[in-house]
Amino acid sequence: MRVAPHTPIALIERYREHLPFAEGDPIVSLNEGGTPLLPAPIISEQVGADVYFKCEGANPTGSFKDRGMTCAVSAAIRDGAKAVICASTGNTAASAAAYAARAGITCAVIVPEGRIARGKLAQTLIHGARAISLQGSFDEALRIVRKLVEEHPIALVNSLNEFRMEGQKTAAFELVEELGSELDLLCIPVGNAGNITAYWRGFSELSVAPRLFGFQAEGAAPLVLGHAVEHPETVASAIRIGKPARGEQALRAAEESGGCIRTVSDTEILSAYRLMAAREGMFVEPASAASVAGLLKYGAEGAKTVVCVLTGRGIKDPEAALAQTEGAIIRCPVDMEAIEAAVLGEA
Ligand SMILES: *Cc1c(COP(=O)(O)O)cnc(C)c1O
Repeated sequence: MRVAPHTPIALIERYREHLPFAEGDPIVSLNEGGTPLLPAPIISEQVGADVYFKCEGANPTGSFKDRGMTCAVSAAIRDGAKAVICASTGNTAASAAAYAARAGITCAVIVPEGRIARGKLAQTLIHGARAISLQGSFDEALRIVRKLVEEHPIALVNSLNEFRMEGQKTAAFELVEELGSELDLLCIPVGNAGNITAYWRGFSELSVAPRLFGFQAEGAAPLVLGHAVEHPETVASAIRIGKPARGEQALRAAEESGGCIRTVSDTEILSAYRLMAAREGMFVEPASAASVAGLLKYGAEGAKTVVCVLTGRGIKDPEAALAQTEGAIIRCPVDMEAIEAAVLGEA
């Protein structure tokens, strides 16, 4: 097989010495990881620090879940699994479906009915996953999936799976490669709380310790409230979770780092969402904007170098974007004068 010299290699190959995979183990990869670190001049000016975006939407299926999924599915194949399953608010399902398709195994996903963004649903279905639309919440879906894997030989690929954590910690490695110990502060959205836990693991393994600021949506903030939320509600569907599986670990990670987990409102999330798109040219999904919303709300607190983790890309949730831009499209007849006026902003 011909491989161009610039072809990026699989995440597992790149970080094998830090991951539980030996030479010769099967690898299921879509060339994940190696995502851009992009300066954010507008946000930097607003908070008085050097702010960068870690663009995890650049992963193959459009979210950071791919870092963990390459490891979870590769391990499942190594163990002889014929099927994987997950509960998902959307991105885990999309990622599991893609990696399972690549591996040639069956994938089942359970998603909360009517609560998953269109793009994520489209991805999941076109990759051929068996998709179950549950008349219940994500938290209920996760409880059911955990029970199913006790009784059937199906590999669970939610972030409860240790291989997911191992893969996701590589994002911290990349940040240390680029910023070294200059990185003072990491801002990150928190849903099921796997990702913040994985970052802290990655930083800890390299003995680097930026502060971690985790952000939950006000209507789905169990880690801030100190108790589960029965009916989590937020525009940011990827973090609409009331009972995070790795909640304790996330709280510990934030505390050990000298940081904390706080809330942002939907209004603040959407305001950051629009600002990032309009001024930074960065279209993310609402959950990802929570990291920037939190930074804008609480400030950098003396940090000089800040990274906001942009967990997933905007095109996954077209409805969210269209709801924010209603009435913005200009209708025109096939009439040169009308079109001219519209184009020049005189309509
Ligand atoms: C999964 C996800 C999150 C939340 O990550 P957790 O590990 O569940 O805390 C945030 N944003 C996006 C886009 C996601 O897909």
